[in-house]
Amino acid sequence: MKKKKLNFKKVFITLVLMIIVFFVSPKIVYYLTTTETQRSLYQLSYQKACTEEIISNKRDQYLIEKQIYSPTINEACNQKEYKDKFFDNYLEITYVNNENFILKINKLLELNYSAKEINQIYQTLSDEQIDEITNKDKIDNLTTLIFQKFFNFNNLERYSNYQKEEKLNDQETVLYVELDLDIPFYTTDYKSNLKDEYLILTNKYYALSKDYEPNDLVKINTAYTNGKTRTIRKKVNEAFEKMAKAMTSQGMMVNVVSAYRSYATQNQLYNNYANRDGIKKADTYSARPGHSEHQTGLALDLNSLSNSAFVYTKEYKWLKDNAHKYGFILRYPSDKVHITGYMFESWHYRYVGIEVATYIYENKITFEEYYLEFIK
Ligand SMILES: [Zn+2]
Repeated sequence: MKKKKLNFKKVFITLVLMIIVFFVSPKIVYYLTTTETQRSLYQLSYQKACTEEIISNKRDQYLIEKQIYSPTINEACNQKEYKDKFFDNYLEITYVNNENFILKINKLLELNYSAKEINQIYQTLSDEQIDEITNKDKIDNLTTLIFQKFFNFNNLERYSNYQKEEKLNDQETVLYVELDLDIPFYTTDYKSNLKDEYLILTNKYYALSKDYEPNDLVKINTAYTNGKTRTIRKKVNEAFEKMAKAMTSQGMMVNVVSAYRSYATQNQLYNNYANRDGIKKADTYSARPGHSEHQTGLALDLNSLSNSAFVYTKEYKWLKDNAHKYGFILRYPSDKVHITGYMFESWHYRYVGIEVATYIYENKITFEEYYLEFIK
């Protein structure tokens, strides 16, 4: 009996000792082998490798004070790709749970993208696009170009080149490149899209074929053509008649000096101008064959005086602010020469229908810009 009692005591003591050894002593060891700083960082969820980097970069007090846990830092410290020189950048970069995240942000940092830019890149671009960017030279203004209307990732290099060349702001850069203005005139072979028959774009990039001729051309009332035979598409003629009546009833003169012109006519006209003034000059005021809006049967040249004087007439002043009500737009305005590629033509009106004409008028844009936004 006596022996048994002693044994029980022994077992009890052994158990207590075991509890101390297994449960309490690791904590004692932990407290003996770590500093308070390390312990605070562990508490913030930083891993061991990371706490050392944080302490050696002297960012420990800052992180502890502000209670900042950066998963990007934690991830970076645990990888062989970790770069000490980027420590502060890692801290500012929002973590994204993507494959090779650290490797990629290293590449972007090497390319001199800032942490702020990298955050924006990850917010707006796809993984594939980010890969593409990491393999290119740095694109200046990338993160501001991204937010421009009409931005197209595939044209990044064109933006970059054109912006440098022309010293444009981001908005102009994206718009102009999307309008192809970085490509020299008459060097593309784009075909005018005929699907929307009143919204055909014909300019220095888009051309009609040699044999394109509208099938509903009608004669314009000779009262408005000084007795000459001129033709235009049926619907355009109807809109024009309404507009002409409004003008004459207000004591204005209406004189159509040019309407539909065939490819052959345009060819002859352009060649005459080019022979007289040279190609460079002729290109500023006359379209090359296939590129003339007059071939669409949707354009009218309205002139009560010579071309250069028309701008001073009451007819022009009225047309400028009223033509859209009848479906026409001033096609080559004075402040859009850089977009249309044509000098200001106060006399050239293009039919697009009332709704589109009103939109273009109210938004002070060109047909090219309308086309880019709604049709292209
Ligand atoms: Zn014209």
